[in-house]
Amino acid sequence: MIKDIITKLKDANLLGRGGAAFPAYLKWEMVKKAKADTKYIVANGSEGEPATDKDGYIVANYPQDLIDGIKLALDYIDHSEAYIYLRKDYYKKYKATLEKMIGKLPIKVFKEKGGYLSGEETVVCQEIENKMHRPRLKPPFPGQAGICGYPTLINNIETFYYAAKIAQGEYKNTRLFTVSGDVKNPGVYELPLVLTIKDVLKKSKNMPTDDFFVQVGGGASGDIFLSSELDQPAGGSGAIIVYDLKKTDPYVLMKRWIDFFMEENCDKCTPCREGTYRLNEMIKNKQIDKVVLDDLLFVLENTSFCALGKMVVPPFKGLSEKILKLK
Ligand code: SF4
Repeated sequence: MIKDIITKLKDANLLGRGGAAFPAYLKWEMVKKAKADTKYIVANGSEGEPATDKDGYIVANYPQDLIDGIKLALDYIDHSEAYIYLRKDYYKKYKATLEKMIGKLPIKVFKEKGGYLSGEETVVCQEIENKMHRPRLKPPFPGQAGICGYPTLINNIETFYYAAKIAQGEYKNTRLFTVSGDVKNPGVYELPLVLTIKDVLKKSKNMPTDDFFVQVGGGASGDIFLSSELDQPAGGSGAIIVYDLKKTDPYVLMKRWIDFFMEENCDKCTPCREGTYRLNEMIKNKQIDKVVLDDLLFVLENTSFCALGKMVVPPFKGLSEKILKLK
C-alpha cells in the first residue's frame, strides 16, 4: 500500500524544527480538517534569533526541496495557497531564484517586516495581513484562525525541507545544527537528530580545548550549559554558541542580550516592556540583586503576553547562577 503524506510524517515522527517541536502531522491534519473555503500555508523563514542560520542555509542550498515540501502541503490541504516568509536579507538574496522555481504554483515569497518577533506565528499572520507588528492572543491558534481568520498551517522552513525528504524516502533522522562562537569551524551541520550537545561539538570538530560554556537554542534566548553539562540533547532550534570562559565578560554578554530584547519587544505588555528595562538597569550598573533578578524573571516567565518575554528568562537565569554564581 502506498502511504499518504500524513502517515509518512507520523511514521517519521517529524517534529516542527522552529523550536517548539510540535508533531508536524498534527498541524497538517488540523488545517486539513478545518472547515473553510480558503486555507493558507506558511513556510516560516524569519529566523530572527542571533546565531541561527539553518533556514537561510536551506533556502541557499536546497530551494527545490523547500518548494517540494510546501507543494506536499498544498496537495494535501484543499483550497490552499502558500507563502515563503523570509527574513529581509534572505528575501533580498533568494527571492528571484525562488520565484523562478515556483513558476505557476500558488506560492508567494513574502518579506517580513523584520526582527525576532516576526517569527512568532500570530505576528506572521499580522504581517501578511499588513497589520501591526504585534502578537495576537492565543487561542485561537493559526491552525484554527490564522491569516485573515482562515486556517493557516505555519511550519518552519526546515520542517518543509524534511517533509520533502520523507516523501522522497531520503530522510535519515537528521537535523541542522548551527554552531558558532569561539570555535574553529563555525557553520551549519546536518547531523543525527539524537545527538547530545557534546556529540555535535565533537562531530563538527568544534570541541574547544580551553574552558568554555555554551548557549543552546539561540544567541539571545538560548539556555546556558557548562562544559560539564553537555550530555543532553541539542534541542530547540539546533543553535549552539560556544563562549570561551576566560575571554567572555558576562556583563558584556548580558548587555548584548538585553539590548536585543529591548530592541525586539513590541511594548505591548508591561511585564516584558518594564522587565527588560529593569534588567537593563541592573546589567548596565553591574549591580545584580539576585532576589530582584529572580522576581523579574518570574514575572517575565509567568505573565508576558507572548513567547518573547518568556524567552528572556533562560539565558539570564543560567548565566547568573552558573557563571556569576549568584545565590
Ligand atoms: S511579551 Fe514582549 S514582545 Fe510579547 S507582547 Fe509583550 S511586550 Fe510584546
